[in-house]
Amino acid sequence: MSQPRTVTVLGATGSIGHSTLDLIERNLDRYQVIALTANRNVKDLADAAKRTNAKRAVIADPSLYNDLKEALAGSSVEAAAGADALVEAAMMGADWTMAAIIGCAGLKATLAAIRKGKTVALANKESLVSAGGLMIDAVREHGTTLLPVDSEHNAIFQCFPHHNRDYVRRIIITASGGPFRTTSLAEMATVTPERAVQHPNWSMGAKISIDSATMMNKGLELIEAFHLFQIPLEKFEILVHPQSVIHSMVEYLDGSILAQIGSPDMRTPIGHTLAWPKRMETPAESLDFTKLRQMDFEAPDYERFPALTLAMESIKSGGARPAVMNAANEIAVAAFLDKKIGFLDIAKIVEKTLDHYTPATPSSLEDVFAIDNEARIQAAALMESLPA
Ligand code: NAD
Ligand code: MG
Repeated sequence: MSQPRTVTVLGATGSIGHSTLDLIERNLDRYQVIALTANRNVKDLADAAKRTNAKRAVIADPSLYNDLKEALAGSSVEAAAGADALVEAAMMGADWTMAAIIGCAGLKATLAAIRKGKTVALANKESLVSAGGLMIDAVREHGTTLLPVDSEHNAIFQCFPHHNRDYVRRIIITASGGPFRTTSLAEMATVTPERAVQHPNWSMGAKISIDSATMMNKGLELIEAFHLFQIPLEKFEILVHPQSVIHSMVEYLDGSILAQIGSPDMRTPIGHTLAWPKRMETPAESLDFTKLRQMDFEAPDYERFPALTLAMESIKSGGARPAVMNAANEIAVAAFLDKKIGFLDIAKIVEKTLDHYTPATPSSLEDVFAIDNEARIQAAALMESLPA
């Protein structure tokens, strides 16, 4: 039998982290866990580390170090805490690393894993949005294999002509349309976070669920796809497909369209990256086409979903705009989840921040963090000036 593959999961306690661990734990003879990380959920992290006999567990919040040590007592798992420990965990050299920290908070650790030059399964889309150029440069420089986990990008990756990208006529990114696909603007103005996190097809973390509801998620995904596949922006199309069974498509010059299709279960794309270039069995249900019966398609409504337009404009203008947009969006989504602003205010805050703050193109990671930080401050200040 071949040696087990060593794996690390950054963001092990989240929705993607749980699905990843589910696959790893079904195959503990084939995968050996090096490090697991989390932000503040000590119990979940310690339990997973003990179950998988991980070498190290890392909690991002340094004040929780003693709690983690206590939770790991009696096991052989090492405890570590803090931002540097997170980066160290990413650099322990696992053959395969899942980058599933949410938001720009994941950028340093994701980039550290990329710089190790092994295989990185990328879920953390915000890091590509804020620092896509720097990340793709690092992938090239270190000869890293970057495998997209986001279902759309994983679908494109599976259909893409890797030997010659000039064969691509069009890339169609599908979108479910989120929970408010048919909701009027007047009603959207009053929706609660509890309602907005209820996605019709996918079960995900809170932030990405809100991004799906505003359709900012599709905007972030367009930027993510632009960096990952290096295809001109005008060749991308966004198509609303409410059943979420076609996860995205690639059209070739000759008119052939290849689609990746399956039940909406993130364990399919995660499993694809975990076994790559082989394939593995996953518990994802086989799609029953007779039950599905039909597939619907419609154009996105840019009026009701202005976040999508903002994302498209920000990547067209390039420079620091995607980083500013992402930071403002993270602040606005958190404020909406805290019931401090309304649902429609999210895109307004993002737009105002983009209007007020136009920094120069970042040329280093430090520049990206400075821009991200300033954009957060500006977005928070603009939120105060919203009419009550
Ligand atoms: P989540 O909120 O469920 O989990 C986030 C993980 O990151 C947790 O383990 C948390 O402890 C950790 N984390 C949060 N803040 C941190 C910080 N400041 N420092 C260190 N760690 C921190 O999120 P999720 O839904 O699993 O999404 C993870 C990433 O995958 C996101 O970038 C998201 O856009 C992307 N993604 C998710 C899905 C999905 O189905 N959930 C699908 C496609 C892409
Ligand atoms: Mg997606």
